[in-house]
Amino acid sequence: MAKHEEVKDGVIFPVGEKNDAYAQYFKGQSYLKSLVADPAINVGVGNVTFEPGCRNNWHIHHDGYQLLLVTGGEGWYQEEGKQAQFLTVGDVIVTHDGVKHWHGATKDSWFEHLAITAGTPEWLEPVSDEWYDKLEK
Ligand code: MN
Repeated sequence: MAKHEEVKDGVIFPVGEKNDAYAQYFKGQSYLKSLVADPAINVGVGNVTFEPGCRNNWHIHHDGYQLLLVTGGEGWYQEEGKQAQFLTVGDVIVTHDGVKHWHGATKDSWFEHLAITAGTPEWLEPVSDEWYDKLEK
């Protein structure tokens, strides 16, 4: 049984629907609940939930940034050329403009974060199984 099964029902905010809009940029199933999508505000806020093993492709937030606030489970964040960071509840990640990175669940745990995002994403290649499977806490 996966760790942190309770996360799949939402920790603070609802998990929302299956994240079909971005499924092509993810491996595994994720869920997205948009919390702030106000055209008069230059950031969007979403609650993103990842099943165990789910992660997004490498990507870049151009002309903006992203703030990740971890609300549930266990996950990974990695910037290109750096070690992956193990994430748990309460961790905060700042991704600056132009930095290539990915984020997602660990192999054996559900994972949830709020994502506060400005700018335009550029989606790149998937995180390979070979790479991902070697990650260790
Ligand atoms: Mn990102």
